[in-house]
Amino acid sequence: MSKIFVYAEVVEEGIAEPSLELIGRARELADKHGFSVSAMLVGFGVRKLADELIYRGASEVHVVDNEVLSKYNLLFYTRAIVEVVENEKPDIFLFPATTTGRELAPRVAARLGTGITADCTAIEIGDYVDPITGKKYEKLLYQIRPTFGGTIMAAIVTPNHRPQMATVRPGVYSVPPRDTSRSGRIKEWTIDFSEEDVGCLEVLEVKRERRKVDLRSAKIIVSGGRGARPEGFKLIRELAELLGGEVGASRAAVDAGWISYDHQVGLTGQTVKPDIYIAVGISGAIQHVVGMKDSKIIIAINKDPEAPIFRIADYGLVGDLFVIIPKLIERLKVAKS
Ligand SMILES: Cc1cc2nc3c(=O)[nH]c(=O)nc-3n(C[C@H](O)[C@H](O)[C@H](O)COP(=O)(O)OP(=O)(O)OC[C@H]3O[C@@H](n4cnc5c(N)ncnc54)[C@H](O)[C@@H]3O)c2cc1C
Repeated sequence: MSKIFVYAEVVEEGIAEPSLELIGRARELADKHGFSVSAMLVGFGVRKLADELIYRGASEVHVVDNEVLSKYNLLFYTRAIVEVVENEKPDIFLFPATTTGRELAPRVAARLGTGITADCTAIEIGDYVDPITGKKYEKLLYQIRPTFGGTIMAAIVTPNHRPQMATVRPGVYSVPPRDTSRSGRIKEWTIDFSEEDVGCLEVLEVKRERRKVDLRSAKIIVSGGRGARPEGFKLIRELAELLGGEVGASRAAVDAGWISYDHQVGLTGQTVKPDIYIAVGISGAIQHVVGMKDSKIIIAINKDPEAPIFRIADYGLVGDLFVIIPKLIERLKVAKS
C-alpha cells in the first residue's frame, strides 16, 4: 500500500498541533484513496509520544530517538529522516509549514532529489493527465497554494519523483479527535550519526519565542484594516475584549505600524478559522481572504457597499465603523451588566 508520511514535530508540550492537523488530513485522504499513514518522529526521549500519533490517525510511527537529537539540529534531523525515507519509500511526505518544517523539508527534498511545494493552503489527491505527453498519472498529491501574489490558486503536482513533498500551513485543517482505541505499529530506528553528518553546524542553545497572540485557537477575532486607522484600533481592541476574542489585522494595518505582525491574518500572516470573524475597515483583498475564509461566521463592517469582503460575509454592515462599533460596544456593555 502506498504511504503518506507526516513529520511529527515535537515541542515542549508534546506533538506540535500543526503536525496533528496534518495527521488528520492525511488520514482523511488515505481512507478515501487507499493509502496508509505513517508518522516520522525524531528527537530525544520522544518514543513516549508515538502512541499519541496513533490515537490521532497514524497506523505506523517511525521513531529515531537518540541523544544527539536532543537539540534540534538541521543536519542530524535531515540525516535521520532521509535514512528512514530511503528505506520506507513513502509516496507522499508532508511537513507542517512551521519554522522548523520550512527549514527541514526543503533540505530533505534536496537530499532525496525530489520536488517540494512550500506553504500549501490545501492538499488533495487526484488523477492527472500531462497536457503535453498525454500520459496519465493516478493518485497524485495536489499541492495547492496561492501564487502570483495571491491572485491565482495553483495546484502543483510531482509526477516523476518520489516522495511528493509539501509543507502545509498551520491552521488550515483541524486537529483530529483523540481515539485511544486505535492501534498501530511503532518502528524504532538506530542511526549511526557521524562527524560528517554534523558538518560545521553546532547548536549551542535553543531559545523558543512564544507567540504573544493566539489567533489560531481564538473563537472570536475582531480584525482591523486600513479603514480603522489607529483610533479605530482602540475601538477594535475594546470590542474584542468585550467579546472575549483576539484582535487581528490586515497587512495594510500592520505595515502602517498600528499593530504588530503577530496579529496579521492572510497570505503572509496567519490562517485562522474562528467561530466568528469580524472584519472592520478591511476591503477583502484575496491575500487577506485566504487567511480567514474558513471562519464559521464572517461579519463585515465597511462603508463601501461594493467592498469585496461583502461577497464572503455572512452578515454585512454598511456604514462608518466609527459610528457602528461604539454602538456595538454600548449594547454589549448594557447586555453584560
Ligand atoms: C504577496 C502579497 C502578500 C500579501 N499578504 C497579505 C496578508 O497576509 N494579509 C493581508 O491582509 N494583506 C496581504 N496583502 C495585501 C493585500 O493585497 C491588501 O493590500 C490588504 O489586505 C489591504 O488591506 P485593507 O483591506 O486593510 O486595506 P484597503 O484595501 O485599503 O481597505 C480599507 C477598507 O476600509 C474601508 N473603510 C475606510 N474607512 C472606513 C470607515 N470609516 N468605516 C468603515 N469602513 C471603512 C474602505 O471602504 C476599504 O474597503 C498581501 C499582498 C501581496 C502582494
